[in-house]
Formats: sequence, structure tokens, C-alpha cells
Amino acid sequence: MSVLVVGTTALDSIKTPYAENPRLLGGSASHAAVAASFFAPVHLVGVVGDDFPQKYVKLYRKHGINLDGLHRATGKTFHWGGEYEVNMNNRRTLFTELGVIENFTPDLPAHYRHIPYVLLANISPGLQLHVLHQMAKPKFVIADTMDLWINVALPDLLKLLRHVDAIVVNDSEARHLTGEDNLHLAIKKIHRLGPAYVIVKKGEHGAILSAPGGHFIAPAFPLEKVVDPTGAGDSFVGGLIGYLAGHRGSVDQNLRKAIIYGSVVASFCCEGFGLDRTTKATRAAIEDRASHIKKLTHF
Ligand code: AMP
Repeated sequence: MSVLVVGTTALDSIKTPYAENPRLLGGSASHAAVAASFFAPVHLVGVVGDDFPQKYVKLYRKHGINLDGLHRATGKTFHWGGEYEVNMNNRRTLFTELGVIENFTPDLPAHYRHIPYVLLANISPGLQLHVLHQMAKPKFVIADTMDLWINVALPDLLKLLRHVDAIVVNDSEARHLTGEDNLHLAIKKIHRLGPAYVIVKKGEHGAILSAPGGHFIAPAFPLEKVVDPTGAGDSFVGGLIGYLAGHRGSVDQNLRKAIIYGSVVASFCCEGFGLDRTTKATRAAIEDRASHIKKLTHF
């Protein structure tokens, strides 16, 4: 079954202590859509400006991503700049130029409205709601968000949470959203805001799932070298929803495996700048890393 992904389609200018790379293909929707495409057909909703390079459109196409929902507007593509410290868990945003995304209120193509799996990747909760309202009867809806929206768009975010099945946040966002320092109590509070499934990302330390059927604690794939972690969270959730859409059975049956496959795709993302490494991953390489995690966690 197919996945709909809405989020930012961006140009990213990224600095690490070792290299600097301007105007890479980035954005929450780009990372998530490519990650999901390893497992299921993907339909993208986003907007780019007239400065968006054709080679990036080709990259989406190489992954079979349907672009009928990708709008081209006059103006500049969303451009984000970020800089990492030697400890790559520490990142600072250098600039965020909204460009054409500022006035983006898409009408979805008719054939997008019946897609069963919906990923509301990181973008303003108002826009996430606008897209969700156009969907007929999705089978499973996951939303991602970030600190910025907790700060500047909390009423919309709380409204959104009442309408999604799952929310993905990192541990500091879970604490920020609930005002609760203990992560397990924070997760309980997030359930009370609406989602039956709460997934908390803990970077290199993996992820926690809290679901109606109980908890699952997943490790991250152990990497010896991280080149650029930008988009790892988006790749995680993209891989996760792609895996769910691509496999028979209920969400409850497949969600634990989906989290492992999401972690695996995120590990490839971290090994190159932008989408460089993710786009070169293969299903065989993904399976190898998933088996490795299985061995690591068996006892
Ligand atoms: P992550 O590393 O998973 O936090 O995701 C980084 C990606 O998010 C980059 O590719 C950025 O283009 C994108 N991004 C940065 N700021 C925002 C924002 N305010 N809203 C949506 N996407 C953003």
C-alpha cells in the first residue's frame, strides 16, 4: 500500500567540523520520502521554488516517488542552514529562509486523498492539519514535530494530536511538550493528548515505542563514523511508515519491526551528507543491518 508524505522540500546548507556543503537536497519530506521508498510507493506533497535544481527532481524520480503533489512556485525554495559541533548531538540552526513555503496551502490531487498511510513530516502543525483534513479515511497517520512548533504553534499542535494515531518526538521535545522531566511520565501525558502510539527518539541511543500492546525499546544501529546526522529523524519515521505500508498484517503486528527498519535507514542517512548515502542504500544492505540489530538484542 502507498504512503503520503507531506513536509519540507528544502535546500540545506550544512557545516560540520570537517566539511561544509551548501544547497544540498534536504527537508523533512525529502528524507522521509526517500526512506519510505525502500519499502512502499510514496506520494509527495511539498513546494519548491524556481531555484530548485532539476537533479534533485531526478533523485526523487529515481526512488519512484510520485510528484503530482509537488508544487513549483515562483520564488525561493525553503533554505535551512545548520552547524554541528565535534559532538554531533549538538547542532545549531544558522538560518531558516521560508521562501515559497510561507504561502503554501496545497489542494491535494484527487488520487492522493485515498492513500492509506499518511506521514505528516515536520512542518507547521497548521499545514499538517490542512493536509490531514483532505484525506478520506486513512488507515494510519503519523505526525512528526519539533521544538519550534511547541513554542510558536502549540494550539494547532494540540489540535493535531487529537487527530493522529501516532506522534514521533525526541526525548527533549517530549519533556518540553509535557513539562515532565521523567520520560516515562511524559509519554503517559502525551497519550492523554490523543495519540494511541507514542514514539520517542533518543538519537544514538535508539527509540522507545509506547503502544496499546505495551512498550518496545529499540537500539540504534551502532555506527563508528557519523558524517552528517541531518535528516536522521525524518529517515527514521519515513522508513518506519514505509515498512508498515509495505507489509501485510496489522500495525500492531508490524510496528516493532518497522521501528528497527526505520533505525536502519536512519543509520545510512548519518553516513553521508544530505541524502548522499541514503540514496545509495539497497534492500540487501538494509536487511544486513536489521539482522545485526536482531543479534545485538537477542538474549
Ligand atoms: P532532522 O535532522 O531530522 O531534525 O531534520 C533536519 C531537516 O529538517 C533538514 O533537512 C531541514 O531542511 C528540515 N528543517 C529544518 N528546520 C525546519 C522547520 N522549521 N520545519 C520543517 N523542516 C525543517
